[in-house]
Amino acid sequence: MPSATAEREAAPHGMPVHEVVLLAETDADTGLSAAAAARRLAELGPNRLPEHRGPGRLRRMLAQFHNPLIYVLLGAAALTFALGETVDASVVLAVVLVNAIVGYLQEVRAERALDALEAMVRTEATVVRDGVAARVASDELVPGDLVVLEEGDQVPADLRLVRSRELRVDESALTGESRPVLKNPLPVPHDTALADRADMAYSGTLVTTGGGRGVVVETGADTEIGHVHRLVGSTTTVQTPLTRKLARFSRVLTAGILGLAVLSVVIGLLRGEPFADMVTAAVALAVGAIPEGLPAAVTVTLAIGVARMARRNAVIRRLPAVETLGSTTVICTDKTGTLTANAMTVRHVVAGGDRWEVDGIGYSPVARHPSAPPAVREVLLAGLACNDADVVRQDDRWTAVGDPTEAALVVSARKAGLSRDDVPERVDELPFTSQRRFMATRHTGGVVYLKGAVERIAEFTGDADHRDAEELAGRGLRVLAFARAEVPEDTPLTEEALRGAVFLGLQAMHDPPRPEALEAVRACQEAGIEVRMITGDHLGTARAIAEHFSLAPGAVHARVSPEEKLRLVKRFQADGHVVAMTGDGVNDAPALRRADIGVAMGRGGTEVAKQAADMVLTDDNFSSIRAAVEEGRAVFDNLRKFIIWTLPTNMAEGLVILTAILLGTALPILPVQILWINMTTAVALGLTLAFEPREPDVMRRPPLPPSLPLLTASLAQRVLLVSVVLLAGSFAAFHLFDGPVDQARTVAVNVFVAAQIAYLFNCRSLENLRPRVGVRRNPWLLIGIVVTVVLQLLLTYTPVMNALFHTAPIGWSAWLPLVGLAVVAYAVVEVDKWWRRTRSPKGMRKEAAPER
Ligand code: ATP
Repeated sequence: MPSATAEREAAPHGMPVHEVVLLAETDADTGLSAAAAARRLAELGPNRLPEHRGPGRLRRMLAQFHNPLIYVLLGAAALTFALGETVDASVVLAVVLVNAIVGYLQEVRAERALDALEAMVRTEATVVRDGVAARVASDELVPGDLVVLEEGDQVPADLRLVRSRELRVDESALTGESRPVLKNPLPVPHDTALADRADMAYSGTLVTTGGGRGVVVETGADTEIGHVHRLVGSTTTVQTPLTRKLARFSRVLTAGILGLAVLSVVIGLLRGEPFADMVTAAVALAVGAIPEGLPAAVTVTLAIGVARMARRNAVIRRLPAVETLGSTTVICTDKTGTLTANAMTVRHVVAGGDRWEVDGIGYSPVARHPSAPPAVREVLLAGLACNDADVVRQDDRWTAVGDPTEAALVVSARKAGLSRDDVPERVDELPFTSQRRFMATRHTGGVVYLKGAVERIAEFTGDADHRDAEELAGRGLRVLAFARAEVPEDTPLTEEALRGAVFLGLQAMHDPPRPEALEAVRACQEAGIEVRMITGDHLGTARAIAEHFSLAPGAVHARVSPEEKLRLVKRFQADGHVVAMTGDGVNDAPALRRADIGVAMGRGGTEVAKQAADMVLTDDNFSSIRAAVEEGRAVFDNLRKFIIWTLPTNMAEGLVILTAILLGTALPILPVQILWINMTTAVALGLTLAFEPREPDVMRRPPLPPSLPLLTASLAQRVLLVSVVLLAGSFAAFHLFDGPVDQARTVAVNVFVAAQIAYLFNCRSLENLRPRVGVRRNPWLLIGIVVTVVLQLLLTYTPVMNALFHTAPIGWSAWLPLVGLAVVAYAVVEVDKWWRRTRSPKGMRKEAAPER
């Protein structure tokens, strides 16, 4: 097969760099021209994986029927049909169909909401075009583009490397190999397996250390990961531990109910009731007692919570995190950028025994101090030399490009009239890493400038007087030390070679605390959550900032390395805490993965950190963590509200049938009527609880332990109480009604629904008596009630519905006691709440807490 061979020989991993560059019509130094890139983008389309369509529509629809409940209903329909009740059987079938359609639509909507989140976390890449490097959205890359890779980047397309420096790539997403692979641009034989092609960097893999450059050879669906993607398809799932737990709960419940149904048939037959009647009763029991709406409601509630969090800048990447957020007991947060604004301004320079104040705030580099003393100028020059950042003027404002710490050093140097022209050309460097805590650059002639944490620089200079540094740090300033060394260009630039460097001085910079973070920290503490500051910065600086945030000295962990972060997470977890931990670097990934809630920074964070995280903050701001916790608690509340609302309905329906059989009386509610109640109220009433706004006191109570069952003992008692009220109400209505049995049943059904509406208002708060949130804040609730009332009127007064559901028009006077019963039901639950609150000392304290 000559063509296949030719194709294999044209594979870029087997070609020398210059051939690849030639073939891609690009340049290994200056990249494509912007015009050529635009042309290729228009021609080939964006560098994006095709959107998976998920399982086909038909398959997903069919999956709705794969559910024990549906089997029961289908069995019921078959039995009813066998008994000659064709109309009833058709109604049951119609209900099954409607149920499946509603389930299908809800599932699709929830999944779409989750998919939309992915687009909120934009992946970026550095690309060289026309010789200039710039950050662009990864989906704008085209074949031929020259991409710069750095530590923490996600490889944005399939690249043939043209240059590399200690480049190691984690290819586990593609090959399953978890150890990072060392890369270099030397071509490999054509038949080399994917995992061994050292000269390629594949889309979707992660740069763990080092850096390099590569030419894009494939984009989008044509990349290797694109091929895999097509094979595997969707990985999004709307399942969480909670939904799985509930699914299991439903299955057990279904089995139990079926057992009861069979038992009731046996009892009835022994008492000599006709077989057909008993089957009907058993079917009613089964369809009534099973909470069919539960799984769908949980999914919808979670999806709504996720959307609310996203609106408040917290993007959830793993759905279970929504559940865990509400139980968080410790938040470990970065200092720089999260609690503070990460907008640095140098305030003081210490050099030659003098302290020199710097004017101005922000990044405006206007020369104000042209006559700074020589010792100061040298420190400023070191800061400018040992620097990869810059400041640019955008719309009349000066902003930082690159690391804000370094941008501040550019500004301080330029304020003294220095410019990059004063710096000799850089020949090599030791880059800054969080572990190394300093950086060194070597320039032509062998002069080396160092800058970094004071203790680190002191290791090279032997200078041990830290009094100035301590004093400045104590004011909350970030202090960097500067030094100069001579290392001839032919000697390797190592830490060893820097011993004996000469100390030049210090620069101390101010980073204003974020005002909204101050308020957010307080809110978290009030919610019983411990806030801890984890920082790579100096203890003095960290303490001063912590004090501003009213954090206890014990809540500050300074000079923390990424490994220590992981250890801290483990330690807190061992103490039984649910830990949220922030991170941004490659080395933070293990701690982020280990934490119950790994939080990555959307702006300042690396791709590696984002991938490891459960949640990404689009604004890097602590107050968004607080928002997420708040919404997490609200989601959990709403889930419980729905469950507490829905269970009594099912229980009461089951009890009504069971009681009728045991007493040997007529059924107050027929199977099709029970189905009607379940289907209409679950969607029109119950689901509106998912839209409830959070109660104002969600952040004024302690975190709920994750092991807490959804149904606590006191809530289980309430479920029982309401079930009994519903049972008594519908039984009384049925038996006290003076008229034909169809009308009596219609009254019983309406009693049921009216009580459910009243109980819906009870459930808007599980513990609070008077509603804390106005009904108008949840318009769905009112819409749902109107819809339900209209449906009940149709059921009661239209001949078609009368025929289908065995109902009959009732006189208007019948409605009055019915409404009265609903009011009584409402009052009973409120009295129950009040009674529990007065009895529980905790409840009293909560009530006494001042409103803020
Ligand atoms: P946080 O964890 O709160 O973000 P941080 O930003 O101070 O804290 P790192 O970025 O790891 O943490 O910095 C640790 C220390 O390294 C700093 O306190 C500073 O002394 C030094 N440092 C920071 N940035 C640079 C840099 N660009 N060059 C040299 N040294 C630096």
